[in-house]
Amino acid sequence: MSNYWSKRLNELEPYVPGEQPRQAGLIKLNTNENPFPPSPRVMEAMKQAVNNDLRLYPDPTDERLRTTIASYYHLSEKEVFVGNGSDEILAFAFRAYFDEDRPILFPEISYSFYPVYAKLYGIPFRTVPVDESGAIDVSAFFQDNGGIVFPNPNAPTSLALSLEQVEEIVSRNLSQVVVVDEAYVDFGAQTALPLIRRYPNLLIVQTLSKSRSLAGLRVGLALGHPSLIEALNRVKGSFNSYTLDRVAHAGAVAAFEDEEYFQHTRSEIMRIRDRTIKQLQDIGLWVAPSSTNFLWVKHGRVDAEEIYSRLREAGILVRHFSAPRVKPYLRITIGTEAEMDALISQLSEILVR
Ligand code: PMP
Repeated sequence: MSNYWSKRLNELEPYVPGEQPRQAGLIKLNTNENPFPPSPRVMEAMKQAVNNDLRLYPDPTDERLRTTIASYYHLSEKEVFVGNGSDEILAFAFRAYFDEDRPILFPEISYSFYPVYAKLYGIPFRTVPVDESGAIDVSAFFQDNGGIVFPNPNAPTSLALSLEQVEEIVSRNLSQVVVVDEAYVDFGAQTALPLIRRYPNLLIVQTLSKSRSLAGLRVGLALGHPSLIEALNRVKGSFNSYTLDRVAHAGAVAAFEDEEYFQHTRSEIMRIRDRTIKQLQDIGLWVAPSSTNFLWVKHGRVDAEEIYSRLREAGILVRHFSAPRVKPYLRITIGTEAEMDALISQLSEILVR
């Protein structure tokens, strides 16, 4: 194999998604999915799409969904883009806004897809420090750069920046694009939405995978100035002119039309989260103050990987990570109340042993 080819293969090191186990009956708290099913209206709309429309190609402009999202957020259709999950939109955004000339910035602990896209597209990057408590050094975003991307709230630390902090990052980088990945924003953080009309360099990316229980459907959205949206459309046009299939399109529209279900399930998750944080603290774990549907957890004595393995033996799947300059940690998705009770009872046993 030539040197060039091995180097290229290295650059193409893929993102490794969390485990989707085949084994039935596990309590699955490892990939930040929503424990509640999608709204019954979503299911109904998708059934109708299956029965009536599959013979036809989908609408390449995704107009009905974009109109629905635009009116939901009081925006115009030209400010809305939709894609196959926010992962696809992030890939398009890296392609559209960043290049090989100047390094982009993202936090050193954040979504592990960012370095994968950067390497794939030959975009240099630099990381911004995160301290032991998960806090990002916001001022590190004020250095010279070719663009910025960060999750808010951050994953996997679960911590949110305030709207003022986000505005400071956006306003100090007016000649670059700042992509704010709001995959988890519906669980208690402030969205940057009020800023998009003031800052044409801000793109917000959101997903229906988390707060709307549709990870399996693969629908994400981006909101921003029409010229940023137009750039995404141009990149999309070179990949696949049909983004969402007809079933996903119908389901996503219905998800935005059932506000009551959305509000109910997201507040349930926040309630279960806050209760779980207290229970974890009571059994001696350190938990970051979460604005997401997952928790960033450490223990003073017992190693995160060991806790992960013991939980796994007991049929509970979480994730463990290590990162530079912070203690290895667990990331635990919020499940149903019963699932969290099972987690707490297993953890109490593991930690007293
Ligand atoms: N951004 C962040 C920070 C995430 O954690 C995830 C979920 N893995 C995504 C984006 C992608 O979500 P999806 O592609 O399901 O919309």
